[in-house]
Amino acid sequence: MRRVTIKDKTFETSIPEAVILEKVKHVAEKLNKDMAGKTPLFLAVLNGSFMYAADLMKFIEIPCEISFVRVASYTGTESSGKFTEIIGLNEDIAGREVVVVEDIVDTGKTMERMLEILRKHNPANIHISTLLLKPGKLEVNLDIKYAAIEIPNDFIVGYGLDYDQQGRNLRDIYTLVQE
Ligand code: 5GP
Ligand code: MG
Repeated sequence: MRRVTIKDKTFETSIPEAVILEKVKHVAEKLNKDMAGKTPLFLAVLNGSFMYAADLMKFIEIPCEISFVRVASYTGTESSGKFTEIIGLNEDIAGREVVVVEDIVDTGKTMERMLEILRKHNPANIHISTLLLKPGKLEVNLDIKYAAIEIPNDFIVGYGLDYDQQGRNLRDIYTLVQE
């Protein structure tokens, strides 16, 4: 087991790159089948999904498009709480089959809010493809048909995911070591 230190925390390998790629390929095969003839638009959510999106796309064999968006969350000045906004959505998604490509779904609140915003643009369907899913943390009702890997509730980094903006470059996925 390989250990890495990022800032004040220690992590150890939990999912090696070879296993990740096998799972990503499996999801791509499902998408190739389900989206055949539909020319889906993949919307990859930066920053975390960049590695997953790149590897997923290499296994997609049907006509498709990809674009990158960001989700910005900020707390407003009023008591209504958090606002979420999608930045960089330049495509007209009306009538399209949209596949949201995310790094991780934890409580699911970010994804839920994102779906609400995307639905206002009248896509034909929105599908969720996430590299990682923590079923034990999910708090909202989401229909996630394309989850590559289910993991326990621990905090992870690597393969695009960060700890305080570092660790995204790691090829494998690492779990926080509880000390
Ligand atoms: P949500 O709780 O809304 O589903 O997830 C919010 C965000 O928290 C995710 O998009 C991701 O950026 C971050 N997140 C949740 N769990 C983890 C984790 O284990 N590791 C990392 N690096 N980020 C996480
Ligand atoms: Mg994310």
